[in-house]
Amino acid sequence: MSSVETFRELQAEVTEWRRYLHRHPELGYQLHNTARFVTEKLASFGINHIETGIAETGIVALIQGEGGDGPTIGLRADMDALPILEASNKPWSSTLPGKMHACGHDGHTAMLLGAAKHLASTRNFKGTVALIFQPAEEDGMGGQRMVQEGIMDRFGISQVFGLHCAPDLAVGKFSTRYGPLLAALDEFDVVVKGRGGHPSEPHKCVDPIVIAAQIVLGLQTLVSRSTDALESLVISVTKLNAGTAYNIIPDRVELAGTVRAFAPHLRDFAEQHIRASAKGIARGFGGDIDFKYRRFEPVTINSIDETNLALKAARILVGPEAVDDKLPANMGSEDFSYMLEARPGSYVFLGNGSTATWHHPEFDFNDEAIPYGVGFWVKVVETALAA
Ligand SMILES: [Zn+2]
Ligand SMILES: [Zn+2]
Repeated sequence: MSSVETFRELQAEVTEWRRYLHRHPELGYQLHNTARFVTEKLASFGINHIETGIAETGIVALIQGEGGDGPTIGLRADMDALPILEASNKPWSSTLPGKMHACGHDGHTAMLLGAAKHLASTRNFKGTVALIFQPAEEDGMGGQRMVQEGIMDRFGISQVFGLHCAPDLAVGKFSTRYGPLLAALDEFDVVVKGRGGHPSEPHKCVDPIVIAAQIVLGLQTLVSRSTDALESLVISVTKLNAGTAYNIIPDRVELAGTVRAFAPHLRDFAEQHIRASAKGIARGFGGDIDFKYRRFEPVTINSIDETNLALKAARILVGPEAVDDKLPANMGSEDFSYMLEARPGSYVFLGNGSTATWHHPEFDFNDEAIPYGVGFWVKVVETALAA
C-alpha cells in the first residue's frame, strides 16, 4: 500500500494545471475554456470514453479497471469560479478582473485530473470509475442538472464521492461526518388575498394586513409546537410588503421567507404546514392565499457505507489520527447534495491550511494539499473497487 509520498510525484504537474485554471476562472455554466482544458488532459492520459456537453459544460469520463467486472463509482469535482475581484497578489492571480477561484474549485478540478492520470496508468481496481466534472456549483445548481440529464443511469453510477478543500483544517487532514452534514435551503412566498376598501369602514373589507400579521405569528408556532425539539428546523419570514396609503385598506399582502432544515421530512413538513397554516388563518378571516414553495439544495447527507469507505481511504493515506469523522454539521449548502439524493455517497473536507476563508478575495487553494487530494481519490477507488 502506497502512502501519500507516491502522490508527491504528481504534485508539480498538478500544481501547474491548478495555477493555469486559477489564472483563467470562468463562471456558472460558461466554462468553455475550463472544459476544453479538462477534456484535453483526460484524452492525453489515454482515457477514451469522455462525454462532454452534459449540463452545457459538464464532463463525465470513464476509466475501466483491470481487475475485472464491478460496479461504477462517481468521483465529482466542481469547476466554476466566483464573481469576485481577486486580491491574493499571487503570481498566478486571475487574469480576468471580477472573476476568481475563491472556493478552491480550481484545486478540486486539478486534483481529480491528477487522480485520473494515476488511475488511467495503474488501473488497479475492478469495475469503472466515472470522473464527474460539474459546472455551476456556486449558483445555478449544475449538480442537479447533471442528475436531471441522467448521468447516474446513463453511466450506471452506483455510489458518488465529493471532496472540498477546507480553510480551517490543517493540510494533510480530512474531516466529515455520518448523516446530515450541510443544510437544505428552501424559499416560500405567500400572497394574502383580501378585499380592500376605505379604512373608516373595515367591516366592509377583508383586511389582508390583519390576516398577514396573524400568519406571521402563526408560523412561529410550527417549529415550537409541531416539530420534535431534538430536530433542527428554521422558518423565517424575511419579507412583508403591503399598502400604499394612509387611507386605503389594500387588496393583498405579500410575504416571503426561508426554510433551513437538516432532515428531508422537515422540508415536507414545512411546505405542508406553512401552506395549511396560512390558508387556514386566511380563510378563517374570509380571505385566501396563493402559495409557492421552492426547493433549492437538499440536505447533504453522507450515507454510512460510503462514509466508511471514504474514511477508510483517508486513513490508509494519512493514518487514523489525521481523519476526523465527527465534524459538526453546519448551515452551509452544497449542490453535490443532488447527487447524494440520487445515489448513496459521501462528501469529505480536505485541509487547506490557514488560508483566507471561502469566497474571500484573498482566498487561494493550497497546492500543498494536492498529494492528499489526489491520493484520497485513488484510495477511494482502490478501496471501493478493490480488485
Ligand atoms: Zn463556494
Ligand atoms: Zn465550493
